[in-house]
Amino acid sequence: MKQNLTETGEWKALEKHFLEAGNFRIKDLFAEDPERARRFTVEDIDIYFDYSKHRIKEKTMRFALTGHLLFTTIHTISAPSTIERLFEMGVPPFLIASSMLGAMSQRLVRRLCPYCSKPASALTEPAVNEFTKNMDLEEAKIVKQLILSPGANFKIPNLAGCPNCRNGYRGRIGLFELMVMNESIRKHVLANAPTDVIRRTAINTAGMRTLLMDGILKARLGETSLAEVIRVTATMV
Ligand SMILES: [Zn+2]
Repeated sequence: MKQNLTETGEWKALEKHFLEAGNFRIKDLFAEDPERARRFTVEDIDIYFDYSKHRIKEKTMRFALTGHLLFTTIHTISAPSTIERLFEMGVPPFLIASSMLGAMSQRLVRRLCPYCSKPASALTEPAVNEFTKNMDLEEAKIVKQLILSPGANFKIPNLAGCPNCRNGYRGRIGLFELMVMNESIRKHVLANAPTDVIRRTAINTAGMRTLLMDGILKARLGETSLAEVIRVTATMV
């Protein structure tokens, strides 16, 4: 978080800082030791972990208030729900609206074995309609399009497996959901809007690709199965 931000310029700067910080490793983002985290401070960027720990929370808020660019992990089910979680932790809406740049959520799915996975039979439109029936209209439209548009290479695991895998899967890949703050989202934050409103606004005005959408895109490439994507994202549909 940082105060008085310009939208895209900051992300570019951030990217540059990380590229310059050659020793930065993604796995260190998951460390929980704040002292260890300090080693990865690059110029005015600070990375803190596990925001919910009280001592760290105090530190991170102080950093954000004094204009540092700051990363932290936070336990929520999606990127938009980060805002509600910050409310609950006592961060005032005006501070979230003015200092938060964005939030990213991630889930791991099993990767299909490239040696033995099999083509999946095509999904029918009624089946997809059934799957999307409880979604917001705009979101349902995007999800339907992602599943049904031509050119997909959906695959299913060979459950018997082969010498290269276990039950048709081999390793894991990440699904990502990145919410970048914009003026529409900020207005809702200031009005204390619920997560579903923030989420809808992020999809419709900030082009947020949800975990499910990202998963479908990866399933279209045959990297994972649609069943696997639905399994890990079921709590947010
Ligand atoms: Zn295999």
